[in-house]
Amino acid sequence: MKIAVLPGDGIGPEIVAQAVKVLDVLRREGLGLEYEYGEMGGAGYDAAGDPYPPATSKLAREADAVLLGAVGGYRYDTLPRPLRPEQGLLRIRKELGLFANLRPAMLYPELASASSLKPEVVSGLDLMILRELTGDIYFGQPRGLRRTDEGEREGYDTMLYSESEISRIAHVGFKTAMKRGKRLCSVDKANVLETSVLWREVVTEISRDYPQVDLSHMYVDNAAMQLVRNPKQFDVILTGNMFGDILSDEASMLTGSIGMLPSASLDAEGKGLFEPIHGSAPDIAGQNVANPLATILSAAMMMRHTFNQEEAAARIEHAVRKALSDGFRTPDIHQEGMTRVGTKEMGDAVAARI
Ligand code: NAD
Repeated sequence: MKIAVLPGDGIGPEIVAQAVKVLDVLRREGLGLEYEYGEMGGAGYDAAGDPYPPATSKLAREADAVLLGAVGGYRYDTLPRPLRPEQGLLRIRKELGLFANLRPAMLYPELASASSLKPEVVSGLDLMILRELTGDIYFGQPRGLRRTDEGEREGYDTMLYSESEISRIAHVGFKTAMKRGKRLCSVDKANVLETSVLWREVVTEISRDYPQVDLSHMYVDNAAMQLVRNPKQFDVILTGNMFGDILSDEASMLTGSIGMLPSASLDAEGKGLFEPIHGSAPDIAGQNVANPLATILSAAMMMRHTFNQEEAAARIEHAVRKALSDGFRTPDIHQEGMTRVGTKEMGDAVAARI
């Protein structure tokens, strides 16, 4: 199991070190993990003048999975767009063909008060949003700006999904549901959009291959409402690129703690890039205060989704839960009466509980 480790910028190196510390416990027990480090984002620009240097690209292509910290920093904000750290992210996702983005929104009961919703609405929340990442209105052609015959300016985009694009993400959705609560809610806007009519048809056809999964459909406006009204009704939400962009941010904020949420982006074979959903937090970089749990939980997702090591994944997640229930808190999730710890100490606490 060859892992390309790309710490990136800001808090990236600090939080990735904690995830590697946790994986190392499993490695010492005999799990065949190998790491190779590469530069990405601002670090790539500093080392090689490129946010996604050729050496990093080679490493990522040859690895079985990629563990990424975060990229970005004030210093790079004035660079021309192609040299900015975020371009490195777009390029690696494209090059590796990562079309399936998995974002769990989980709220540990210990952290229920961190949410802006009532604790009883969100406590124990555990849902997964699966967003298609390479199609839809963000990539459909034609698109552009033009002038009408009357001289008015017009902007236009094309919402477009092919049957094969819908089918491959739907398979990921059903397989994900099979590994969880076996309920899949497909979100679309089939009352208005032709793209969504096809989406719904194809998802329904594919559901016949997964008779154990309970499939439902929901319009996106209703889904946005249900996510704040009663988010615990969902197990897996399957949706397209644009709806998923919006709903996954909404869902992540139900938990109130950006430092807790992991993500995975997968290709057709299950190879993936695993990263926390937050950015490089330059405001707190280098101070040993960043929460490493999102990155540690991203490593757990890697074990589950790329390496099929369900037991290793569950042990990491259990160790995180145990560290929280034993009262360890980084400053972002700290509450009175709990033990305030730094990034490294939180990594130690989780590693000790594997
Ligand atoms: P951010 O997620 O980095 O930070 C937002 C706020 O959350 C900050 O106050 C930060 O201190 C806090 N925060 C984030 N992660 C935390 C953690 N693990 N523990 C404790 N607190 C945490 O978003 P931003 O400030 O908008 O962006 C900063 C930089 O990150 C920018 O350069 C941006 O482009 C980049 N960015 C990168 C990614 C990525 O690498 N995937 C994602 C988003 C933003």
